[in-house]
Amino acid sequence: MKGVFIKTYGCQMNVYDSARMVKLLAPLGFVPVMAPNDADLVIFNTCHIREKAAEKVYSELGKIHRLKIAKAHRGGTMIVAVGGCVAQAEGAEILHRVPFVDLVFGPQSYHRLPELVVRALREDGVRVLDTNFPAEPKFDYLPEASAAAGVTAFLTVQEGCDKFCSFCVVPYTRGAEYSRPVVQVLTEARHAVGAGVREITLLGQNVNAYHGESPDGRNWGLGELIRGLAELPGLDRIRYTTSHPGDVDDGLIAAHRDVPQLMPFVHLPVQSGADRVLAAMNRRHTADVYRQIVDRLRSARSDLALSSDFIVGFPGESEEDFLATLDLVDEIGFAQAFSFKYSRRPGTPAAFARDQVPESVKSYRLDVLQRLLKRQQRDFNEACVGQILPVLLEKPGRHDGQLVGRSPYLQSVHVAAPARLGEIVPVLISAASTNSLAGSLAPAAAA
Ligand code: SF4
Repeated sequence: MKGVFIKTYGCQMNVYDSARMVKLLAPLGFVPVMAPNDADLVIFNTCHIREKAAEKVYSELGKIHRLKIAKAHRGGTMIVAVGGCVAQAEGAEILHRVPFVDLVFGPQSYHRLPELVVRALREDGVRVLDTNFPAEPKFDYLPEASAAAGVTAFLTVQEGCDKFCSFCVVPYTRGAEYSRPVVQVLTEARHAVGAGVREITLLGQNVNAYHGESPDGRNWGLGELIRGLAELPGLDRIRYTTSHPGDVDDGLIAAHRDVPQLMPFVHLPVQSGADRVLAAMNRRHTADVYRQIVDRLRSARSDLALSSDFIVGFPGESEEDFLATLDLVDEIGFAQAFSFKYSRRPGTPAAFARDQVPESVKSYRLDVLQRLLKRQQRDFNEACVGQILPVLLEKPGRHDGQLVGRSPYLQSVHVAAPARLGEIVPVLISAASTNSLAGSLAPAAAA
C-alpha cells in the first residue's frame, strides 16, 4: 500500500476531480492519507481563479520540499505532482522554478495520471509535463467519482468555456466547452443514487451551456438532462452550478417550473450592473437582460432564490457604474453572493487594460457592496424563521444530538434531532444568522 495526499484548491469541480484521481490511482495500490508527512505521492490540485494563485502554490510547495527530503533520508520516495489550472497556466515554468516537482499535469490530462505516476516512479529522476488538450474526451477514460462518500454528490456534466470573459482564465486553462453524453451522466447518477446519494449537484464551468449527445440522436440541453435525472427513483434533489445568463434557455426555465426535484436556488453570476462594464467584460448580456431572465425564472418558480458573483473595480468602472451595480442588487435581492475586487489574471485581455481602478477605490466599493449583500442574506435567512423547510440531513453537528443539513435554498441548517442522517425532514426554523439557520423537527416529523 502507498499513500496519496491530495490538496485541493478552488471550486467544486476540483473537489470532484480529486475524488476521481483517488479512484484512478487505487489500482496502483495508492490509498488516500490525511496528511502529506508520510505520503508516497503528494498532489496539489490547483485553482487559478484567485489573485496570486501561482505564488501561493509555489509557497506551499516549499513546505513539501522539507517532507520530501526527510522521507529520502529514511530511504523512501515522495513523488510531488502539481495538477489543475495553475499547472495548465504555468506548465514548464513550475518544473523550471521548483526542481523537486516530479510531475505537472493539466485538468484535461488527469485521466493519464496512473501512466504519468508510473513513469515518474520507474524512471528515477525523470520529470513529466503533460498539459496538452487531448483529442480524446477524458471522461471516456475516467472511473466514476466516489459516490458513496455521503448523501450529496457532485457530478461534472460539462467542462471548459467558449465565452472568453475578459477577466477569466478558464477558457485558457480548461479549454473549449465539452458536454458529457447523456447516457454517461445518467449512469453515473444511477450508481451514485444506488450508493445512497439523495442530492446531486451538476457541475460545469458553464453548466447551462450543456448540450450532451443523447440516445435519441439529439443534443439535450440542461433542462432535458434535469428531466432525465428526475426520473431516477431515489434522487430527491438536483442542483446545478455555475450558469451563464446567456445560456438560460426556455428548456431550463421550464424545468424549474415542472421538476420538483430541481431545487429553487440558482447561482447566476452577473458580475456588474453597468452595461458599459458588462461590455468591457465581454459578458454578452446587459443588466436588463439579466433582470428579464430573473423575472422569467421567478415566474416559473415563485419561491426561487438567487445567488450571484460580483467583481468591483473592473478596469474603467466609474462611480456611476458602481452605483448601477448597487441598484441592480437592490432591485433583485440575493439570498447569497460572492464578491471580489478585480485582480489581474495574467494572459487575460483585461489584465492589459490601462484604466485600472486604484486599490483604495476597489476596497471601498467592495466594502459597500458586501454590506448590502450581507444585509440581503441576513434578511433572506430571517424571513425563514417560523417556516417549516425540508432539510436534507448531511452530517453530525458540533453538539450532541445535533445534525447539520441543507435547505432547498442551500442554507446550512442546524437541527436538534435524533440521528436521521440522510433523510429529508421538515424542520421548523427558530433562529437565523447571516450564514445559517437553526431549528428542530417539525411536530409531525418529531412524533
Ligand atoms: S462564462 Fe464563466 S468560465 Fe466562461 S469565461 Fe466567463 S467567467 Fe470564465
